[in-house]
Amino acid sequence: MLSAFWGHASAIAIASPVVSIVGFHGDRTTIRRPTYGEMKFVEVVEKQREMPTFPQSFPMNGGDGPHSYIHNSSYQKVAIDGAKERTREAILEKLDLELLNRNSDANILRIADFGCSIGPNTFDVVQNIIDSVKQKHLKKETHIGTPLEFQVCFNDQPNNDFNTLFRTQPLFSRREYLSVGVPGSFHSRVLPKNSLHIGHTSYTLHWLSTIPQHVCDKKSPALNKSYIQCNNLVDEVTKAYKIQFKKDIGGFLEARAEELVSGGLMILSGQCLPDGIPKALTWQGVVIDMIGECLMDMAKLGITSKEKIELFSLPTYIPHISEFKANIEQNENFKIETMEEISHPMDYMPLTNDFITSMFRAILNTIIEKHFGDGVVDELFDRLAKKLDKYPINFKRCKKYVNYFIVLKRK
Ligand code: SAH
Repeated sequence: MLSAFWGHASAIAIASPVVSIVGFHGDRTTIRRPTYGEMKFVEVVEKQREMPTFPQSFPMNGGDGPHSYIHNSSYQKVAIDGAKERTREAILEKLDLELLNRNSDANILRIADFGCSIGPNTFDVVQNIIDSVKQKHLKKETHIGTPLEFQVCFNDQPNNDFNTLFRTQPLFSRREYLSVGVPGSFHSRVLPKNSLHIGHTSYTLHWLSTIPQHVCDKKSPALNKSYIQCNNLVDEVTKAYKIQFKKDIGGFLEARAEELVSGGLMILSGQCLPDGIPKALTWQGVVIDMIGECLMDMAKLGITSKEKIELFSLPTYIPHISEFKANIEQNENFKIETMEEISHPMDYMPLTNDFITSMFRAILNTIIEKHFGDGVVDELFDRLAKKLDKYPINFKRCKKYVNYFIVLKRK
């Protein structure tokens, strides 16, 4: 749900070329690096700070404080729990454990959660996958005698709060897997070829790799002038988002096709729009449009500017369900094992304004802060809370998202 900024310093080292220290003279250390030749250490650090590493990544709010994703992701968790049984069935029915025999490290089963964020959702997902594989293994359908070992790759953008993720994972004594952090965009390859047995991703694919071309271009008819999201009310804007989404989902599937072993499974869950329904008519769409209105109110008071808002458009896109399916079907490396529409267990309960405000704050904090600057977030979400009190969401009238559960098998 969300615009253009540079990542913060923690990931700079990842993208920096190798440097070698050639002299140390107090604070006048000089170092040699391929790009800049000999420079003062301070100059190099400054130069590195200017280097864009992952220009458009906006992880969920980190840490474990009251506004963190950890404490504000129960809406997603409920959906993930709702898909638990389907995931178990998919593994019992569709996973062929013989595929392990085709690899040299025959007793290692490798699992990856793409866009894992910070717990607890990802830990639940992973545990459910492991329990299901163990159940299948115990059925002795295969001749693999050796006990399985599990390796879990936690993937997210480099500026995701991996420290909190690993600090809060289940204790080693109670964990049945070895963990690996995999920083990088899932729109490209992040794992070795032919190395993954089960991939999972939930609530991630609506995140685009970039803000679609032209939606922040003042000279373009696709400039998203009046809104901060693609709510499907402006055709040119929708078209630009649609093109970017198609490119990104294509990149995601291409990369996974390379990483998964033949017979490996990719499980996808998330949300789409029902065909023919604009996002502006869903409660989530209404809330984001309200956030846009709050920003406009703040611009009138000089807290931010109209110009900044015009140049802000969230790099997220909720596709229509048939559009989503068509994009998945385009990749011929996968056999579609399951493609189900399921309901979200919270679809039929009105959510409180506090819940809605906290949930959107945990998701949008990073992106808002990066675009509008420090200090805007508190004010913005206070205003959102007040607006929601004044104009409560009419859940009965709002259209509902469609939740999808998809299992793909690498051919
Ligand atoms: N899967 C978790 C978190 C969903 S939030 C859950 O179901 O609760 C979406 C996550 O996707 C965020 O952590 C965000 O940083 C990550 N994400 C978005 N785009 C990404 C990309 N290109 N590569 C890797 N992770 C990405």
